[in-house]
Order: sequence, then structure tokens, then C-alpha cells
Amino acid sequence: MDYRTKLFLWSDPYDTAGTEDLFLSALRENAEFQYAHCPAYRAVLDEFGFRPKELKTPADLSRLPFLPTAFLKKHRMFSMPKVRRLVTASSSGTGGSGRSEIGLEAGALGAGAVMVKKVFGSRGILSPKPCHYVVFGYDPRRGGGNDAGPAMAAAMTAYGYTFLAPALSRTFALRRVKGEDGTYAYKPDLDGVISALAKHERSPFPTRLMGFPAYVWFALGRMEERGIRLRLPEGSSVMFGGGWKQHYREAVDKEEMVRRIEKVLGIPGSRVFECYGAAEHPILYCACPARRFHIPVYSRVLIRDPRTFDPVPAGTPGLVNLITPMIRATPVLSVLTDDLGILHTAETDPPCPCGCKSPWLEILGRVGMTEIKTCAAGAEEAIREASG
Ligand SMILES: [Zn+2]
Repeated sequence: MDYRTKLFLWSDPYDTAGTEDLFLSALRENAEFQYAHCPAYRAVLDEFGFRPKELKTPADLSRLPFLPTAFLKKHRMFSMPKVRRLVTASSSGTGGSGRSEIGLEAGALGAGAVMVKKVFGSRGILSPKPCHYVVFGYDPRRGGGNDAGPAMAAAMTAYGYTFLAPALSRTFALRRVKGEDGTYAYKPDLDGVISALAKHERSPFPTRLMGFPAYVWFALGRMEERGIRLRLPEGSSVMFGGGWKQHYREAVDKEEMVRRIEKVLGIPGSRVFECYGAAEHPILYCACPARRFHIPVYSRVLIRDPRTFDPVPAGTPGLVNLITPMIRATPVLSVLTDDLGILHTAETDPPCPCGCKSPWLEILGRVGMTEIKTCAAGAEEAIREASG
């Protein structure tokens, strides 16, 4: 059994302290594979004079050269031929910055499936109980047309989420419609979502909502204006993916959103889940009941100074550097995001009230504020147009 398999099968998904050596072995195994199979990545390591075998202690993690997500959006790098890259995930590419394409091979998908089972299984998100899904995002089943190409990671994640419990129905807020000029575009259909929610209130089965916070916020706002107060069946929940502040920092406060969900949908705050992740680093960071993103055994997180890129001590804000040996088909073992965050550890903070001992990541926002504004403005504009 290789080290990656051992790591992903580790019984406690948050035992980061107990997996230090195994994580390093799995990362070294991955780095050696990339070095042998991806000439472009080998050139990067050679440029920095780094050899995979130098990964021996946790301190060596910061010396492993990282690839910035901005770089991955402009350059395609693969370590396996196309035939072995079973799934290609791409980032949503807002603001003309390009999209990154991440190929995943069978081993990465298998590791991902085990991770989903362990992380979501422990939270009751993976469940045999059937439910209705309402996705505030794109309907990926209507791909093709002018949107051909790799599926956006956000849409794929949302669609994947609808398989964690058996689906009685799936309603998507963003529908692909044909415009007057014959081209297809995604248009929000908030009224369709609102009537689906009203129908699901009378179902004996729970409803799961998920997707972009901006759309959820506007839909619930519209329901509030119309005086609609639902009491969705027990077990209903809301899942936000992609990290909160990353997408909608200025406009919606998280606590305000939870209050609106409780008031309009009758779903308690304890059933509002949040995940953080990136197309370039598909590890699940699922917020604990204290709303913190604990680091699972499958990854390690470093924070770097935005000017010098040197690692900074825990408790200090900086750029988030995500490290995982999950994928072999693409050399994304260490990626530097444009998210600003803080790593909290036992040295910097009192223990988390949830009981989890693994360090946690706090996301402060994104470095390129114009990008955040573009994303938020885009959602607002689309909703305004659709409302007419
Ligand atoms: Zn916690």
C-alpha cells in the first residue's frame, strides 16, 4: 500500500499530530512522482535547488517550492497523459484572470471519495435518508454549448454534494436558457426556487440547500419581503461551499445570514454548514460547530508573508499555502492561494470548544479586492436583470 492510501485511510480524519511522519512520506512520494513525470515542475524544483528526498521534517514543508494559483490559471501542467486524467476540474475564473485546469486520476478520485466519507460521515452530512436538494448554483447537467470545456469546480462540487444523501429532487437556481441571439446563458430563477422550497415544506423528508451565499441571501430576502415564513422538516440543512468571505465579504455578514435562515426557513443555526476549498486543492475543510476550519490529516497549511513569501508564525495573518499529496496527475502538491488567512494552533489559542485538537484556518478574505467586487457585483447584476 502506498503512503497516500495509508494517509487517506487514517481512522481519525483530524489526527494531524499522529500523522506527521506519514504525511511527509506521502508528500515525498508525490513530489518524487511529479519530479519524474512533469518536466515543467521538475524545472521549478531544479530552479530552487530542491530535491523531493529533502522532505524529511515538518520544517521542510516550507522549503518545497509552491505554485501560485495565479500561475496555474495561465499555465497547464500535467504529470499524466490525458487518458489517465479521468476528471478535469477548473476554477471559476472571474475577472479575466483565466482558469486553472486540474486533472484528477483514479487514485486521486478514490482518495477523495474516502475523504468525503470520513469528513462528511462524521457530521451526518453523508446519510442514507432521502432528501430534496435546492442548489443556489449552476445546473451542471446542461453543460456544453458556449460553456463547453471542463466543468467548473464550484458547479461540480455542488452537484457532487447532491449525492451525499439519496436525492428525491434537485432544483437549481441558475438555469441555462437560450437568449434572443441564439446563445445560451445562465439566468437565476429565484422564484422557481422559492416555490420549490414552499412545496418541500409539506414533504415528510428534509431539504438540503447549498451554493453561493449571495443567491441564498437574495432569495431569502425576497421571501422575507413577501412575508413567507417556512418551517422546513427536521433534518433540513444549508451548506455553503467555497468559503464565506472569499466570495461575499462586504455585503453579507455570516451571523445575519444564519438569523435570516432561521427566520425564513426554520432551519436552526446548528444545521448551517460551511466548507472551504479550491479547485487547485480539493481538500474538504468543513467548519466545526464553532465555525472553524480544522485542518484534516490529508493536508497541511502554511501562512506566508505576502511580500517575502517567507512562512510566518501561527497567529499571524498572511497568504494561505495549501499542501496535499492527494493528486498525482497535476503537480498541485503545494499551491499558494490569493486568500489571506491565519493559522490557529494550540500555541496561539485556547482549545476549540468543539473538542477537535487539529489547528484551524481562519480565512480573512482575498488579496485582490477588485476580484471580490467583480464576483459580488456580477451576482447582483444578474439578479437585477432576471427580476426585470
Ligand atoms: Zn472546532
